[in-house]
Amino acid sequence: MRVDELDVDEANGVEGASGYLTVDLAALGRNYARLAKMVAPALAAAVVKADAYGIGAERVAKTVYEQGCRHFFVAQFVEAMKLRPAVPQDARIFVLNGLQPGNEDICAYEDIIPVINSIEQWRNWSRTARRLGRRLPAAVQFDTGMSRLGLPPEERPLLAEDLTYRSDVEILFLMSHLASADDDESTQNWEQLEELRRIAEEFPGHDLSFANSGGVFLGNPYHSALARPGIALYGGAPSNATRPMEPVVRLDVAVVQTRTVPAGTKVGYGGIHVTAKQTRLATIAAGYADGLPRSLSDRGAVYFDGVRLPIVGRVSMDSITIDVSALPEGAIGIGSLVEVLGPNRTLEDVAREAGTICYEILANLGRRYHRQYR
Ligand SMILES: *Cc1c(COP(=O)(O)O)cnc(C)c1O
Repeated sequence: MRVDELDVDEANGVEGASGYLTVDLAALGRNYARLAKMVAPALAAAVVKADAYGIGAERVAKTVYEQGCRHFFVAQFVEAMKLRPAVPQDARIFVLNGLQPGNEDICAYEDIIPVINSIEQWRNWSRTARRLGRRLPAAVQFDTGMSRLGLPPEERPLLAEDLTYRSDVEILFLMSHLASADDDESTQNWEQLEELRRIAEEFPGHDLSFANSGGVFLGNPYHSALARPGIALYGGAPSNATRPMEPVVRLDVAVVQTRTVPAGTKVGYGGIHVTAKQTRLATIAAGYADGLPRSLSDRGAVYFDGVRLPIVGRVSMDSITIDVSALPEGAIGIGSLVEVLGPNRTLEDVAREAGTICYEILANLGRRYHRQYR
């Protein structure tokens, strides 16, 4: 096949791609089904912001739609616009970052549901509904202790007052977001739940939406009417305490050069790694431009045939050097694929070694890999 015969998404899928990102959509579907079962009779949404944490929002949305998912959360209006034509009309798309001034009409016309984050946004959306002469849906988010998004406590009386008049805004959910759901010992979880319960009393008669992935695993009191898992769908462990989800992503990267060096040889930028003995090295074709953080320099590892191969020296922009001495001579050569993420290397392993969280690793996985969806 010639390159110009490929569609743009597949353009990096020509023979000889230097990395292969494999997304197991069946596993994703099973993760959704499992979460949905855990929260039933509450519903489970899918959080597909940032291109579904880098995995591909459209594919993810279609997969979970088939499992019965009808509620989708993106962060930005532009993401909602992109997703809208990809899912059937009965899929509800919510924009977490709120209703930006000037976007009211297009949200109404395009059937995009804002998460109302302030009294000003509420009033703009109400005015739009009056002007268009129809009811417009919204979720209303409250800040219950994270100080990030949502109506602050002092705006609640203003909303209550507005609601004494007839409103053309249909509140689908009152929502809030957990700050510490990954830590089931944190007292903040309970404090936020108490605050949300007070809000539910102030604004009775509405469904609530609270739990992210961690919240799903915190148990029933957190599930309310609609849970909003993200990372757990994609195989990330929502907390240390929970049984891991099924992995969804696998990443294999090609070897582009091998060599054998004597003891005392410097490896990579800055020469921070010096070989202690004769060492067989391989250079693989992915680096920090492909989402493998520079903080993995001289730590962490990849796998080949189940054998651990440590990263040596600094992570470069486009490559990483690994010590392959543990493999039989000749076992690995140009074009061999090593496992960067897979059965031997979980997202959590890589995140821990990189000094970050699995969300960041996943969301940054690069655009240069050939992506294949199973
Ligand atoms: C990102 C996000 C989620 C999903 O969080 P996970 O920890 O990935 O499950 C849910 N709700 C809001 C408001 C978010 O910003």
